[in-house]
Formats: sequence, structure tokens, C-alpha cells
Amino acid sequence: MDSQPPKPANPPTSESAFEADRYVGEELAGAPLRPIAAVGPEFGRFVVVAPHPDDETLGCGGLIALMARRDPENVRVIIATDGTASHPNSKLFPPEQRRDMREKETVAALTSLGLPDAANKVEFLRLQDANMPDEESDPRYLEALGRMGRALRRWSPQTVLTTWRREPHGDHRRTTGLVAHCIAAEGVGRVRMLEYPVWLWENGQPGDWPRHGEMRAWRLDIRPVVTFKREAILSHRSQVSNVITDVPDGFRLSQSMLGRFAAPWEVFLEEN
Ligand SMILES: [Zn+2]
Repeated sequence: MDSQPPKPANPPTSESAFEADRYVGEELAGAPLRPIAAVGPEFGRFVVVAPHPDDETLGCGGLIALMARRDPENVRVIIATDGTASHPNSKLFPPEQRRDMREKETVAALTSLGLPDAANKVEFLRLQDANMPDEESDPRYLEALGRMGRALRRWSPQTVLTTWRREPHGDHRRTTGLVAHCIAAEGVGRVRMLEYPVWLWENGQPGDWPRHGEMRAWRLDIRPVVTFKREAILSHRSQVSNVITDVPDGFRLSQSMLGRFAAPWEVFLEEN
């Protein structure tokens, strides 16, 4: 059969761009579903890097729970920021107390996921929440890069999971940027990098979604542990209830976010 001449490309309209984004979103939700038995053995020593305390559970809680049952000594978690910006105006809970609260919540969440000795498997870098350095020209950038690099080298992972590179959230993009920089330049070695979306589902704008052919997407079947993941999400009490009582308008994970992360699968993206 003769090959057809290429059709002239239509200039994209904002409506067609939006439709394309929605299509990619639906495609992610329908990506191939894999059991942990198929993907777990390839991970080796791995670390979940989360921008904030709670992202590790929202994005990768099912994975952590499943691997905690198979190979708990190979699981580590790094939390980049101190998580103090969700209730910035609290006087009852000043920043240090909020930081301690969120770190304890993270250990409780990892324990809910079944990770033994969780307090010794998580490292908190305590970068300033909502104020991470973006540019190498920012003098704080090298300090942040150093903290991330040291944490990664201590564990020397074979697989690193971090948030999706175009998450609609500055701290998330900057965390992924630091991780990528470390992997490329800090001598971590040859490392497999997987990315997980968190806010993309809720706030993704045209251009934030993976482009067709850019990434390989698959979903992890977390049905055996989904109840543990839900319990772990609720362990982040400051993000789902009013334990910080003097800031009634403080951050709360919305019902739609909670519903989304109660799904029996998690999405992971890997560069083609
Ligand atoms: Zn976050």
C-alpha cells in the first residue's frame, strides 16, 4: 500500500491541548497493571524521595507496604522539606513543633504501612517548606544539593523514586530536580529513576502531563495493601484533621485527593 502523505498539522487550540492532556491523564489511569512480584525484584536497594511528609504515602504508600512485606531491609525514605508551611500562622504550634509533629506522623505512617523499625529507615533533610532553592545561582541550592547527595550516598540505592518532574507544585519539581542533579553529578552511580505523580491529578495544567512517547507508564497493583495505605494517609493527622486547632483555614488534603489516593493502584513513570 502506498504510504499516505503526512497530513498538515492543525495549529493546536487551547481546547484541543486540554483534550490532549485529558487523554494522557486517562491513559495513565489505564496504564498496564503489574503485580509487585513482577516489578519488585528489579528494584534492589531503593529509596522513595518525597518533597513533603505525606507524599511518600500518597504516591508510593502501596509500593512501600508491598516491599515492606517482601524485602524490608531494602526500603528507605527521604523527606526533603520540613513540612512546616501547611499551617504557617499557628501560634500554638510554632515551626519546630510543627516539624516534629510531621516527622512523627511520617514514622507513624510508615509503621502503618508495615515497615519495621521505620524511624531508622527515614531521613529528614529539613529543607524549608515552600521555600526550596530553585536555581543554582541561589546560594542555598548547593547546601540543598549536598544534603540530598549525602542522604543518597549513605544508602547508595539502585532505584530512586521521586515525584513527577512537571508536578504542578514548586517544591515537588525542585525536589525532583535535586534528585536528578545528584544522580547525574554527585557520584551516586548508575541509578534507575522512577517518578510518581501526586498533584498532577488534581491541579495538572496543559503542559504538565507526560507527552505521548515521553515516558513509559505502568501501574502497581496495590489491592493487597490498600487498607494499610488508607490507614497510613490518616496517620498524617495534621493534613487530614484539625489537630492544629488555632488555624482553622490551614491546609487540608481535599476529599477528592483522599479519594484519588485510596485507589487500588499507583502510577509510576520511567523515561523511555
Ligand atoms: Zn507535597
